Amino acid sequence: MTHDSCTPNAELHWDLDSMSFTVRAVRDLQPDEQITISYCDIYMPREMRRRELQLKYKFLCTCPSCALPDAESARSDQRRHLLRMEIYKADSLRDDRPLREWASNPALPDNHIVKYGLKILGIMEEEGLYEEEIWSVHYARLCKVSCALGDREAARGWAKKAAVMMTVYTGSDGGWNKVVDDPEKTEWWGIRLD
Ligand SMILES: [Zn+2]
Repeated sequence: MTHDSCTPNAELHWDLDSMSFTVRAVRDLQPDEQITISYCDIYMPREMRRRELQLKYKFLCTCPSCALPDAESARSDQRRHLLRMEIYKADSLRDDRPLREWASNPALPDNHIVKYGLKILGIMEEEGLYEEEIWSVHYARLCKVSCALGDREAARGWAKKAAVMMTVYTGSDGGWNKVVDDPEKTEWWGIRLD
């Protein structure tokens, strides 16, 4: 039994082998957590979500995000807008060239990339929308930057987050646990320091 939410902890996933929908978690779940999925585009502002849900499914969404007081809801709308913009940028953010440029340019500050990544991940966490296109990009970038700076603990921390989320999302860690064990073995290790 799944429930509606505009900050869902799961999504429907079409499984071709069994020709059926399966429910897939989008973040780490607590054992007693109720499974929720969304019935509309969760990056739309509340008013538009309400209109669509009313029109298509004839119900008024009372999820925690929709139940926010107006001022808080406006901030939530703004965060969702920023996250949507970030999803559009995902492809360009996967391009490593700017990272390598930063690594080889001492004129750019050490926290140049980190500040931006932390800001976006902060918005994601505050809104509770764990979007793959966002966390996968920024966990990887922050891990690479930490490696480039030779910061072992930070690199392991980001790799661990990526491993957990990849496992929740795909059932496999995507190789991230190897980075957790040995960040020094990545091609990014120490390249900012050379
Ligand atoms: Zn809602």
